Amino acid sequence: MHCPFCRHPDSRVVDSRTSDDGSSIRRRRQCPQCNRRFTTVETASLSVVKRSGVTEPFSREKIANGVRKACQGRPVSEDDLAVLAQRVEETLRSSGSAEIDAYEIGLAILGPLRELDEVAYLRFASVYQAFDSLEDFEAAITVLRADREEREERSSGAAADDGLDAEGGSGPAPAGTAASAAQPG
Ligand SMILES: [Zn+2]
Repeated sequence: MHCPFCRHPDSRVVDSRTSDDGSSIRRRRQCPQCNRRFTTVETASLSVVKRSGVTEPFSREKIANGVRKACQGRPVSEDDLAVLAQRVEETLRSSGSAEIDAYEIGLAILGPLRELDEVAYLRFASVYQAFDSLEDFEAAITVLRADREEREERSSGAAADDGLDAEGGSGPAPAGTAASAAQPG
């Protein structure tokens, strides 16, 4: 590649360093003409195999574009989309494969999108997983609700302990007693 300062067509590598996880190499280069230094980062290219069989380079921009539509009218910023696209790329790269099916990208989007915004997630999932009935939406919403209730129960653990103070108890022990007392037989 040419020097980014003077566009001289050649450069000399003065230092190479592999990233901690081994997925990229940074090279410090020096231009023999203007003597300025710059850094290049080398990563394995990630290709997407489309359903038609055509292969194209992975693009974070395309991920963001694909999700943006599902986020219309939702409190999701461009920064959120950029972070999501980055997480998707990290997930795909961690699979260790240089070629990714377009279908797998959709799967990798669902997780982080659900954390970001549940409505956008439902919109995206309905297209990606080809929901074709109300039952499909109901099933997806049931899963979201169950997960949310589980999360809320876990995070309200401290609050539940406060409630137990009225009964003179503290910590998980009284709760355990109550549970076993409630069991029939
Ligand atoms: Zn130069």
